Amino acid sequence: MSIPVRLNKVLQSLPQGVRLAAVSKYHPVEMLREAYDAGQRIFAENHVQEMVAKSALLPSDIEWHMIGHLQTNKVRAAVSVVSVIESVDSRRLLEFINKEAQRAGRTVDCLLEVHVAAEQTKTGWNEQDLIQYIDSDEWRNLENIRLRGVMGMATNTDSEDIIRNDFCHLQRIFQTLQAKVGPEFRELSMGMSDDYPIAVECGATLVRVGSYIFGPRVY
Ligand SMILES: *Cc1c(COP(=O)(O)O)cnc(C)c1O
Repeated sequence: MSIPVRLNKVLQSLPQGVRLAAVSKYHPVEMLREAYDAGQRIFAENHVQEMVAKSALLPSDIEWHMIGHLQTNKVRAAVSVVSVIESVDSRRLLEFINKEAQRAGRTVDCLLEVHVAAEQTKTGWNEQDLIQYIDSDEWRNLENIRLRGVMGMATNTDSEDIIRNDFCHLQRIFQTLQAKVGPEFRELSMGMSDDYPIAVECGATLVRVGSYIFGPRVY
């Protein structure tokens, strides 16, 4: 199956209103171009340098999403091309993004990455810390960021029950935060190649699919 065929299979399986971020990390620009030519406009990358390099070689109407752990010393470069930083996992990072966005004279949409999965290695806020931070209203002073929603991952397991449980948990956190932040907080980014149909059932508004569309990654 070709990239356009796989891309369209995913798109056809998504209900109206659910968008697709094509996760293109480690894949060559020619593959992104194929997806672009088939109509895809949202691409997600894990590394800033790779995102910046690819963005220079592709049309400017692409919406680039950052989904990997972001180091503060990479924020400036990220802000120069990114549309949405989905992997905001600390208050320090949020403040850094705000500072660099201000410097660049722009506003950056951010999702808060929340940790619900069983693995300890996965980054993200824990639920209590995040709710406490949002309740502090400190984020309201960050004039160059817009909090747009939540990003998360399910436990890496074959158990559909555990995966569904994680996604439903993310949805509850999302709804709790939306009630505090406001209606512009409306993005729930969850679901990857192996589990995105379950994520959609649990209310995802954005799914992040890579290997199903582009094939296995060569690291
Ligand atoms: C790599 C990655 C994906 C996509 O994973 P696939 O299994 O290739 O679909 C989604 N989200 C994040 C945060 C990732 O790092």
